[in-house]
Amino acid sequence: MVKVKRGTLKAILEAARNTYPREFIALLGSTKGRVLDEFIVLPSTFGESLSSIRADLLPYNAGSIGSVHSHPGPNARPSKADLAMFRAMGEIHLITAYPFSLESTRAYDAAGKELELEVVE
Ligand SMILES: [Zn+2]
Repeated sequence: MVKVKRGTLKAILEAARNTYPREFIALLGSTKGRVLDEFIVLPSTFGESLSSIRADLLPYNAGSIGSVHSHPGPNARPSKADLAMFRAMGEIHLITAYPFSLESTRAYDAAGKELELEVVE
C-alpha cells in the first residue's frame, strides 16, 4: 500500500500535463511517516528518455523514497528501462499515464510489482 497526499498528487499530475508530450520525472519524498507528500522535479531530464538518465548523477539522498514519471501514452506499465531505474532510485515508484489522472496513475515497488495506491487528505 502506497499513501500519497491529495495535494501532492494533484501537483504531480499538473506537472505531468504541463510537460506533455515530454516525459516528466521527479523524486518522491515524505516528511511525515510513510505518506508521500513532496516531490523534487528533475528539470534537466525533461524530454529525455529514462534510459538515458544516469542514476549516479541524480540528487538522490536519504530523504527520497522513490520516483514518479509520466508516460505520454495511455500505458502505465513500467518499461525495461523503468525497472532498471526503479532498482536504482528507491522503493516506491509511480507512473502516471496520459491523461494524467488518479485513475491513470499506478504505483510499483522496486521490482516492478504493482502496489495499491491510496490518496489521503
Ligand atoms: Zn516509464
